[in-house]
Amino acid sequence: MSESARKFVINLVLFLLAGAGVGWLYGQTQWGLLTFALVALGWQVWQLLSFDRALRTGNFDNFRVGESLWAQLFSRFRFEHERAVRRKAGYRRLLREVRKSTDAMPDGAVILDANNEIVSCNRAVGELAGLKRKKDKGQRIDNILRNPELVALVNGGDFERSVEIPSPVQDGHWLNCRVVPYGADQKLLIIRDVTDRLRLAKMRRDFVANASHELRSPLTVISGYVDSLADDDELPSQWVKPVQQMRSQSQRMNQILRELMELSRLESSGVAANDNAIDVAQLLSDAKNTFDGQADGANIIVEAEPRLKLLGNQAEIESVVVNLLSNALRHTPPDGQICLRWQSDDGAAILSVKDTGDGIQPEHIPHLTERFFRVDRGRSRDAGGVGLGLAIVKHALLRHEATLEISSEPGNGSEFRCVFPANRVTGSSADL
Ligand code: ADP
Repeated sequence: MSESARKFVINLVLFLLAGAGVGWLYGQTQWGLLTFALVALGWQVWQLLSFDRALRTGNFDNFRVGESLWAQLFSRFRFEHERAVRRKAGYRRLLREVRKSTDAMPDGAVILDANNEIVSCNRAVGELAGLKRKKDKGQRIDNILRNPELVALVNGGDFERSVEIPSPVQDGHWLNCRVVPYGADQKLLIIRDVTDRLRLAKMRRDFVANASHELRSPLTVISGYVDSLADDDELPSQWVKPVQQMRSQSQRMNQILRELMELSRLESSGVAANDNAIDVAQLLSDAKNTFDGQADGANIIVEAEPRLKLLGNQAEIESVVVNLLSNALRHTPPDGQICLRWQSDDGAAILSVKDTGDGIQPEHIPHLTERFFRVDRGRSRDAGGVGLGLAIVKHALLRHEATLEISSEPGNGSEFRCVFPANRVTGSSADL
């Protein structure tokens, strides 16, 4: 108990005892006690009401000095009150700083609650997507930004994915949108202007496509002459080897141009149509028959669900299989085995090519689908690899909303798994 509380209790007891004493003098002890108790109560009620009035008016003159319980209460109250005011001012300053820094950010940020209603947003969102901080507060984001891809992103719980949408306020501008978890039950929608990046990517794609296209005609002429020379029985013997080398190099250049043009085409076309059901089991068995004839080739086996069909572009899926299978053959010794598998997996479907060959060091795996990436440049060149095969596979799969998963262990073989989503598959056991 504090000093002032002890004094308060002692004074009260003494006061009540005095009341009882006065009552005793008059032969009315209880009445004396009761009267003094009522006076003490009345005094405390009066103090309470004064304190209440002081709280409302801010005039604490009655309580400012002294050691009474009420004066102590006041100083405690004033101390807490001033601390709260200081804290509030600190939070306000912090909030202003946070707002200033988020407003200085070139990226747009929108805080959404669990119902996708706007809690707050920074200034950049206004310029990028036309949101108004005060007017749009409390509105559902999908009532303001109605792009279907963005709506699906915001409503879905996928925090890894991002979508690119045209800006609703600036013609020709593109926005990259991403959602990340934020606070309890909230989300942060981050919007970034990626127009320059997309423009550069398009310039690069166009340049590669145009350059490949332009190089093709002269190369066809050169290859034609080199082929004729190579087939000429009267070619002087000292020219036979150089002409053979010219022929194989021009074939290689042709292959590079073909693959570059294919890659540009895949990159610049959207999602593949899904009105064609591909018989993947048949496609795998055709691929096996084609490659089986190769001398020194590893043993190829096919395990496929015949009823399971893939919705997409036949030529592109063929190219995926041929690229993966020719890679596997190139990296698997003749006594090894390659398994081509096509199977349903919980509604989705997986096309996999698994070999028992060289395997790949883990540090190379993330780079395999980059253009012109080859693990062993010298060896791949001799074996005819250009380093575009897996890039083509990746882009063909992207067009089919599929992903490529690569697992490998050096010395123990590799597995390339193409995972197709359920909407690209028919005839799986889940449909029956
Ligand atoms: P390339 O035309 O050189 O085959 P890819 O893009 O198809 O180009 O493959 C890139 C690199 O990945 C290859 O150079 C090779 O080193 C490695 N690779 C691809 N498939 C396999 C495999 N099945 N086993 C081992 N390494 C592989």
